[in-house]
Amino acid sequence: MSTQDAAKILVIEDESPIRKFIRLSLESHGYDVSEVSTAAAGIGHAMAEPPDAVILDLGLPDQDGLEVISRIREWSRVPIIVVSARGREADKVVALDSGADDYLTKPFSVGELLARLRVALRHSASIATSTADSVFRVGELSVDLCRREVTIGDESIHLTPTEYRLLLVLVSHAGKVVTHRQLLKEVWGPDSVYENQYLRVYMGQLRRKIEHDAARPRYLKTEAGVGYRLMDE
Ligand code: CA
Repeated sequence: MSTQDAAKILVIEDESPIRKFIRLSLESHGYDVSEVSTAAAGIGHAMAEPPDAVILDLGLPDQDGLEVISRIREWSRVPIIVVSARGREADKVVALDSGADDYLTKPFSVGELLARLRVALRHSASIATSTADSVFRVGELSVDLCRREVTIGDESIHLTPTEYRLLLVLVSHAGKVVTHRQLLKEVWGPDSVYENQYLRVYMGQLRRKIEHDAARPRYLKTEAGVGYRLMDE
């Protein structure tokens, strides 16, 4: 990848060892990285030189990372991956519902960082060019969005309309975490965002139909306290 084609990543993180770790990891994989340590500098940098993705720490010295998300979302759909401390599920949920695309929990590995970034950049590229495939495939699972057909290997799977809608929302965010609230809103409507039991029941049904072992899912992963993620690789 030449320097000109390299995806530009803006890292907003006040802890310098973590900032350095992210920068070195990404640079060694061909990304063009800019780093800042405050919310104000991050917002300014994102405006002056629009990045292809933002990696954002939620705990910043001058303003809350959530403020950075809402400011950037006023003018940009750039993917934002938040970085937060373990055990702060509530923070992650608020960040995702405010417009962040995904999150990394500290401490995270280079592999996790690169995987999240790949998914985020792939999503923004497919939105930009509208060339999203009409058939989603991962492992043995295939979802034909035109024919509304779901198969596992050669076997056709019958889903109820609600199960299919739930799977469809997850497919449209494949690889990314989707919060309970987002799923409830998109599948059951804005009046149902607190009906977590709907989600548990339907997710259970969906897993029994598409997973080999519903207790150890390959495709539909639980993100504890946050939501669900349909794996895309
Ligand atoms: Ca911090």
